[in-house]
Amino acid sequence: MNKKQKKLLIRIIIAAVFFVPLYLISEGIVAVKLPEPVLIALFLIPYLTVGWDILRKALLGIRNRRLFDECFLMTVATVGAIALGEYGEGVAVMLLYQVGELFQSYAVGRSRRSISDLMDIRPDYANLEGEDGAFERVDPDEVETGSVIVVQPGERVPIDGVVIEGSSALDTSALTGESKPRSVAVDDDVLSGCINLSGVLRVRTTAEFDESTASKILDLVENAASRKSKSENFISKFARVYTPVVCCTALALAVLPPLFCMLTGVGMAGYAGVGALWRDWVLRACTFLVISCPCAVVISVPLSFFAGLGGASSQGILVKGSNYLETLSQVGTVAFDKTGTITLGSFEVTAVHHSPMEEQRLLEYAALAECHSSHPISQSLRRAHGKELDISRVSDVQEISGHGVLAKVDGVDVAVGNEKLMNRVGVAFRHCHHAGTIIHMAVDGAYAGHIVISDELKATSREAMAALKRAGVERTVMLTGDAKSVAEQVAKEVGLTDFRAELLPQDKVACVEELMRGGGRKKLAFVGDGINDAPVLSRADIGIAMGALGSDAAIEAADVVLMDDDPLKIAKAIRISRKCLGIVKQNIAFALTVKALCLALSALGLANMWLAIAADVGVMILAVLNAIRCLFVRRL
Ligand code: ADP
Ligand code: MG
Repeated sequence: MNKKQKKLLIRIIIAAVFFVPLYLISEGIVAVKLPEPVLIALFLIPYLTVGWDILRKALLGIRNRRLFDECFLMTVATVGAIALGEYGEGVAVMLLYQVGELFQSYAVGRSRRSISDLMDIRPDYANLEGEDGAFERVDPDEVETGSVIVVQPGERVPIDGVVIEGSSALDTSALTGESKPRSVAVDDDVLSGCINLSGVLRVRTTAEFDESTASKILDLVENAASRKSKSENFISKFARVYTPVVCCTALALAVLPPLFCMLTGVGMAGYAGVGALWRDWVLRACTFLVISCPCAVVISVPLSFFAGLGGASSQGILVKGSNYLETLSQVGTVAFDKTGTITLGSFEVTAVHHSPMEEQRLLEYAALAECHSSHPISQSLRRAHGKELDISRVSDVQEISGHGVLAKVDGVDVAVGNEKLMNRVGVAFRHCHHAGTIIHMAVDGAYAGHIVISDELKATSREAMAALKRAGVERTVMLTGDAKSVAEQVAKEVGLTDFRAELLPQDKVACVEELMRGGGRKKLAFVGDGINDAPVLSRADIGIAMGALGSDAAIEAADVVLMDDDPLKIAKAIRISRKCLGIVKQNIAFALTVKALCLALSALGLANMWLAIAADVGVMILAVLNAIRCLFVRRL
């Protein structure tokens, strides 16, 4: 509990200690006779102790012409009750209302803290290595790109970089939700936010602190709560209309029925006189006000989304806003990119065919031409070549997405890419009947053979499609720029419902639009790795980026970021969103039903203030407890 909450708790306890004996006296249960003015004065002690800040807020609200908030409702109702001689009820309402407030602020604080614990990836310092080899502790902000930092066992990696000495295991769970440690050695990338478990690492930084993974993710999480979902917007609009309506209704309830009785004489017989008549109806109106206080709904809806976002991020699923969580729950079609999403995107060269050149030289040309590309294919070609590249031999590089690369190597034109690229440069190519992705090469305008590379499926791709089906996703479609034969094989192996092949990035956008039209009111999610598919990620109803650790384009363009490469997380994200939205609906329905019932009872004169406040605080506590369930998503 924080200081403010402790103070409120103390006030509640003091007020309760005063209130209980007074209440027993006023109800005649304890036989002590006190004169009326003394009783009022005594009741005012607990009332003001526990309620002065509510009264103050209500007065401030009146002064600022923002009349109709919860404080106003509570103030009018309790002052009304006390003025009518129902001291006990008046004080009790204020007391219980504050108990509710305390509980709510405690619950919100707790879930906020457990989320920040989960996202506890902000590094406090970096060990910067000086020229003499000694290191000093500095603020991570001060470390320049290219500096050498030392990360000792048990420390958090402060800045993204590459290992230059040492090997160790990293705990990446704060970033990815994956509990298995990842081993790293020299030349491996390390990401800020991971914890170094075993060995000392010397790391050359590759980014500044602000541009590092940990900072970017924290930004993302912190901004998520400000993107409101439709339900949240609805609730705040609802509260703006609802409270004034309730106040006017209460006023009408206090005035119209007794006026009617007096004018027509109907029902007057039930009352001892005109005074009693008015007293009864004004009291009913006060009860009505207490019941109608909307805090359960107003607090529990945003809290549910907040907890849902937090729960998802604990699993390595970053959702950029509550609105996306809402969309995610309505997904009926998931479209996938192939390379890097369903497959690992790490190709092995399996053969070189029909080349007039030596294999090694062909690979060297391919690797050189691809030296600036970040496409998985280009990385694999560079890896297959395996030797250090002299980049100065390459000029005029032009990457054509969905086709391949054109470049000059040693002044000679080289084209590396698929059949479309060969057609584009007007070189006749030979078909290949091997399974795998075919990379054709043209050197100096003449066909130079092709390289067959093959990719592996991710270990969980099959399971992921099955999980999506179980989660109620009807269509799973793969959109790929690769050849039809490859696409067909992959689609069959993982169990997709449909696939489209040989698409350029702009064709993928058109495909997604067509699928969206065919999907009716259900939403379409596109899952990609951010390479060549940023436009599709932003065009789909919801864009999910895979394995985004380190890929800026994907973090920017996507609405949901899956921190590890695991396609199983897609179904999990959908289930988390469904659970969260389900809880939101439960809370709204539950709160409104109970309120409607109590309102009806109070209008009929069957409910007193005790029932009113019990309904209000009780519903609020239950709704908040229910909302907190959104945090628990591990087993989904
Ligand atoms: P995917 O849908 O599989 O992610 P892309 O749109 O990224 O496909 O690429 C489609 C095709 O374009 C690849 O299969 C490849 O034939 C060719 N291609 C794209 N970029 C390159 C590159 N850098 N080098 C060689 N070929 C490329
Ligand atoms: Mg791709």
